[in-house]
Amino acid sequence: MARQGHVIGIDLGTTNSEVAAFHDGQVRIIGKGNTRMLPSCVGLSPEGELLIGEPARNQLLLFPERTVRSIKRMMGRETTVRLGDKDYTPQEISAIILRELADWARAGLGGPVDQAVITVPAYFSDAQRQATREAGALAGLEVVRILNEPTAASLAYGVGEEGNHTVLVYDLGGGTFDVSIVTIEDDVTEVLGSHGNNHLGGDDFDQLIVDRLVDSFKQTHGIDPREGHAAAYSRIWRAAEEAKKRLSGEPFTMIREEALITRDGTPLHLEMELSREEYQEMIRPLIETTLESVSKAMSDAGKKNRDLDAVLLVGGATRTPLVMEILEKRTGIAPKQDVHPDLCVALGAGVMASRMSGREIDRVLVDVSPFSFGISYLGNRDGLPYYHCYHPIIRRNTPLPVTKTEAYETTHPFQTEVDVHVYQGDDPDALKNIPVGDFKVEGLQDVEDPNVVLCRMNLDLDGILNVTAIEKDTGLSKNITINNSLQPKSDEEIAAARRRLDELFADRVLAFEEDEDEGLDDDEAEDQSLETDDPAWEEAVRSAEALLDRSRGLLGEMHDEDREEAIDLHERIEEAIRSGQAEPLDDSLAELRELLFFVEGK
Ligand code: AMP
Repeated sequence: MARQGHVIGIDLGTTNSEVAAFHDGQVRIIGKGNTRMLPSCVGLSPEGELLIGEPARNQLLLFPERTVRSIKRMMGRETTVRLGDKDYTPQEISAIILRELADWARAGLGGPVDQAVITVPAYFSDAQRQATREAGALAGLEVVRILNEPTAASLAYGVGEEGNHTVLVYDLGGGTFDVSIVTIEDDVTEVLGSHGNNHLGGDDFDQLIVDRLVDSFKQTHGIDPREGHAAAYSRIWRAAEEAKKRLSGEPFTMIREEALITRDGTPLHLEMELSREEYQEMIRPLIETTLESVSKAMSDAGKKNRDLDAVLLVGGATRTPLVMEILEKRTGIAPKQDVHPDLCVALGAGVMASRMSGREIDRVLVDVSPFSFGISYLGNRDGLPYYHCYHPIIRRNTPLPVTKTEAYETTHPFQTEVDVHVYQGDDPDALKNIPVGDFKVEGLQDVEDPNVVLCRMNLDLDGILNVTAIEKDTGLSKNITINNSLQPKSDEEIAAARRRLDELFADRVLAFEEDEDEGLDDDEAEDQSLETDDPAWEEAVRSAEALLDRSRGLLGEMHDEDREEAIDLHERIEEAIRSGQAEPLDDSLAELRELLFFVEGK
C-alpha cells in the first residue's frame, strides 16, 4: 500500500512564495534551513544553471534578460517570457517555483507530498485561476483547492470561530495591493468586495529611497550610479530595501555602502542617514491612495466601519508603522498583525490543507506579546506639560521575538542624565500602568540643544525584556533586563512595584531637598517611604488621582486664573504623592476641591 502524501498550502505570491503544512501538532511554515520565504524569481546563470529564489533575485539587475520576476502578473495570459534562449509560459515559470516549494515540504515533512491548496487574489479571473491549477499540475501537484488570499488570511486568524464575522483584509505586498471585505459564517466564506492596485507595494517605497540615495551620491561624487554601473545600482536597491525594513522598527537608520563605485582607483562610498519621519513623509501619498480602494471595497460590500469586526494586515509591507496608523484612522479599528503578515496567507492555506486531510484546525498558533511595554516621558496632557506621558514601544499582540526603538529628547539644556521608567500597559498615563523596571543613564553630552536618546526594547520568546537607552550622537548606552516580563503579575507584585517606583521618586525629591534644607537623615527618609505601605495612604492616593483626573477634564472650561491655580495644585499634589507626604497632600486636595466646587457650579 502506498504511503499517503501530505496536503500542503502554498501562497504563490508576486514577490515571495511560501509553503505551510500540519507538522509537529500545528500548522507551520516549512522552510529550507533558516529561509522561510522563496523570492518568486527564476533565472538562468551565465553558465546555464537554473536558479530559483534568492540566487535568481540576486542576478536580477545584472542579467535581466536571464531572470524572470513577478510572473504572477502574467498568469492567465496567452503569452510567453524569454529565459536565456527559450520561451516559457507563465504556468511553466510558476511551476518551477511550486516544485521548489513542494521539495522544501517533502524534505521538511519527511514524506511524500502530492496535493496542494494554492491561494490566488480575490480579483483573479477564471482564466487566471485555471492557469494556477495548470501550474500546480506541471509541478506534479494535484490542486485540491484554489483559495482566495483574503479568505486564507481570515482562516489563519481563526475568524468565524464563534458565529459570523465581517473582516477587512488589507494586503500590501512587494508589488501589489488589494483590500477585501470578507464574511465568514460557520464554514462558509464569502468575499463581498475587493479592490486594489496591481502596481503598488513595498517596492515603490524602495524606489523612493533609491532615488534619494542616487541623488545624494550624485551630489557628493558627481556620478550617477544608474548610468553604466549596474552592480552599484543593484547594491543601492538592496541597501534601500534593508533600510526600509529597519525603519519599521527604528526611528533613524544609517545607509552605508563602502566602495560603491571606484573612480581612478579611488573608492567612493555612499553614506546617508534617513529618519522614519522623513521616510514616512515620502511614502504617505502612496499609502493614502490605498484608502480610495478601501472605500470602494466597503461600498461594494455595502458595509460601514461599524459593521467590521476586525481589520487584518497581510503582506510584508504592512509592517510599515504608517500603514497601521493611517488605516486605524480610516476604520476606527486597531488593525491586527499578530499572525506574521508575510506568512499569514500561506499559514491560512496550511489551515485549509490540514482540514482537507481531515484535521480539525481552528487557527494558527503564534507567539505574541500579551502586553504592551513602553517608557514614560515628558509630554503634553490636556495641553499642559505632564511628566508621566506614555505610549507603548512594543504593542500588545506583536509576534515574538521583536525589537522596536523609539526616539526621545532631553528636556532641558545641559541635561547629562535621564531616568528611564519602564511600564507594562496601554494607558496614556504611565502612572496607571504597571511599573516593571527603571534605570538611570548618566554621562550624556553636556549640550544646550535637545539631545536625542533612543530607547530600544527587545522581547524574546522566553519573555525576557531587554531595554536599552542609547545616546544617538555618541552611542553611549545603558540597559536593563527584565526576566519573566510576560508572566501575569499578582496584585501584590504590582503594589510592590509601584512602591519601588514611589520610593524612587521620593528619593529624587529628597535629593533635591537636601540641597536646600541641608538634607534629611536616613531614618527620616525611611519613615517617608514607609508611609506608602499604609492602606490609608493608598486610599488617599487613589482618591487624589480621581480628583486630578476630574480636574484635568475641566481645565478647558476654567478662566485663566483658575487654570493657573489648578495646574499649580496638580503639581503640588503629584509631588506630595511622589514624596509620600500626607499633610501637604491633604492641604492641596482641600484647595483643589474648593476650586472645583466653584468651577463646576459656574
Ligand atoms: P510580500 O509580497 O508579502 O512578501 O511582501 C514583500 C514586501 O514587504 C517587500 O516590499 C518587502 O521589502 C516588504 N517588507 C518585508 N519586511 C518589511 C518590514 N519589516 N518593513 C517594511 N516592509 C517590509
